[in-house]
Amino acid sequence: MLILVINSGSSSLKYQVRDVEAGEVLLEGLVERIGLPQGDAPAAVPDHGAALEIVAARLHEVLGDRQVDAVGHRVVHGGERFAEPVLINNEVTRAIERLNPLAPLHNPAAVLGIRAITEKWPHLPQVAVFDTAYHRTLPEKAWRYAVPDWLYTHHGIRRYGFHGTSHQYVAGRAAALLGEPVDEFNGVILHLGNGASATAVKGGASVDTSMGFTPLEGLVMGTRSGDIDPSILVFLGRQGMDADALDDLLNRESGLLGLGGSNDMRTLVEAAEAPAAEAPDAGADDGAVPGSGVDPVRAQRALEVAAYRLAKYVGAYHVAVGGAQAVVFTAGIGENSSPFRALVCEQLGALGIELDPELNAIRSKEARTISTRGSRIPVLVIPTNEEQAIAEATAELVQA
Ligand code: ADP
Repeated sequence: MLILVINSGSSSLKYQVRDVEAGEVLLEGLVERIGLPQGDAPAAVPDHGAALEIVAARLHEVLGDRQVDAVGHRVVHGGERFAEPVLINNEVTRAIERLNPLAPLHNPAAVLGIRAITEKWPHLPQVAVFDTAYHRTLPEKAWRYAVPDWLYTHHGIRRYGFHGTSHQYVAGRAAALLGEPVDEFNGVILHLGNGASATAVKGGASVDTSMGFTPLEGLVMGTRSGDIDPSILVFLGRQGMDADALDDLLNRESGLLGLGGSNDMRTLVEAAEAPAAEAPDAGADDGAVPGSGVDPVRAQRALEVAAYRLAKYVGAYHVAVGGAQAVVFTAGIGENSSPFRALVCEQLGALGIELDPELNAIRSKEARTISTRGSRIPVLVIPTNEEQAIAEATAELVQA
C-alpha cells in the first residue's frame, strides 16, 4: 500500500509517500511559505490547496500511474475524544477543529490539510493520527493538575501529553528488542528532539508523560523552558509582560537556547568540550568557540541543567512504572548525541544503570543496547519513525 503522510503546519506542508509493507520512502518534500507574501509580491503558494497542487505534480512525476491508496495526517491534538487513529469524515474534521483553542498553532493547519485533500481527491480515504492519543491511558492522578475543578470542566485544562506516536512506536520496538510482549513492557522512553518529552510506559501503555496541557511542560528543550515555578509568570505579569511576550519567552527564547546560547545540541557539546584553559569566567564573552559564538561555560551549564532534569524524570518514571525494564533514548538528540546520553546516565547510578562507553560511542541507525551487561536496567537507543508509524496506522484502518 502507498500512503501519503501529511504533516501540515500553518505555513508549511511536509509530505512523504511510503510503501508500508516495504517500510520504504518513495518521495518526500516540504512546501514552505504557504500564504506568506514575498516582499511586495503576493504569496507564491497562496493556500494549502495550492501547496497540494505542488505535491500532486511531484506524485505524478515520481509515481507515474501508481496511485496512493490513502492519506495519513499527523494531528497534534486529539483532546479527550481520540484515543486511537480514526478514519476522517466531516464530523471528525469538525471535532478536530473544535480542539483549535487547545492547539492554536497546529490543529487549524491540520484541518486545512484535510480539507485540501478532501477537495482534490474526495474519494481518497484519510486517517488522522494524533500526538495525544497514546496518552489517553494516563490515570486521573497523573493527568489532573492540583487546581480548582472549573479549570478542567470549563477550559479542558489537564495533562494531555504529546509525541505519543513516537513514544508508542519506540515502546513497541523496545519490547521487541527485549523479546517481551509489548503489553508486558515497562519502561521509560525519552524522546529528545527540538521538543523533548519523557513517557512512563507500564504494560505497554502510557501512564505518565512530561508534556502537559501544552508541549511546554517538563524537560529542558531546544527553546522551551520545560518546568518552572508558575509564580515566575505571575511575577513577570506584574512587571508588565503580556501573554504574548510570556509565550515567546518560554516557548522560543528559553531552554538550551536561553541557558546556553544555542538550541543545537552539537554546537553546545562542541563548545563545552573546548579546552578548559580557554574557558572564560561565566558571562565573559571572549573565549567563545570560534565560529559558534557560544561561551563554553554557558554551554556546559545548559547541558548540565538539561541532563539533570532528564535524570530526575527517569527516576520518577522508574517509580511510576513499578520498575523499568529499559530506559530508551530516541529522536535527534537521543539517537545521535552520545555525550548527552553519557551525561544523563552518569546520574542514574542509583538505579544500577551503567553505560558502556564503547557501545554508547557507536554511530548507527539501528536499534541497539548501550549499557553494560551488568547494568541493572538496560539502556537502549531506538530510532523513532513517526511517518512510518502514521503510514502503518493509516494502512491498518483503511484495510479494516
Ligand atoms: P524535531 O523535534 O524538530 O523533530 P529532531 O528530532 O530532528 O527534532 O532533533 C533535533 C535536535 O537533534 C537538535 O538539537 C540537534 O542538535 C540534535 N541532533 C541532530 N543530529 C545530531 C547529531 N549528529 N549529534 C548531536 N545532536 C544532534
